[in-house]
Amino acid sequence: MKVNKDGRECASWCDRDHQGENSGPWCRSGMIGGSPGYAELEQEDYEDSPNLDAWAIGRTPEGNPDSHFLTAESVSEAQRLADFIRAVAQMRKPEIRALAANVEKAAAEAWPEKEAEAS
Ligand SMILES: [Zn+2]
Repeated sequence: MKVNKDGRECASWCDRDHQGENSGPWCRSGMIGGSPGYAELEQEDYEDSPNLDAWAIGRTPEGNPDSHFLTAESVSEAQRLADFIRAVAQMRKPEIRALAANVEKAAAEAWPEKEAEAS
């Protein structure tokens, strides 16, 4: 039985070497899928179930590497995330950029003090 540094049994999907020098105590999958879009599972040792991170690896308009992720904490959240990504995939790039701008606009209206903090 593979265990983490605290002696807890590893998740079946864990591919981390917990005996390694730089290994944390929590379980982590490798990349599920490949770049530029992949999923990754991680489970802190105090959590009862894993988090799923959906990663998008891209480039800034200036051409610099740029990566972002969204986290799902349950199978239903993961399904909503997958459905959202599929819906976005049906949109044209200007529509996707408009969606991002609309999210920022709504956030600024909802939490104006947060926008002030960020700038
Ligand atoms: Zn593990």
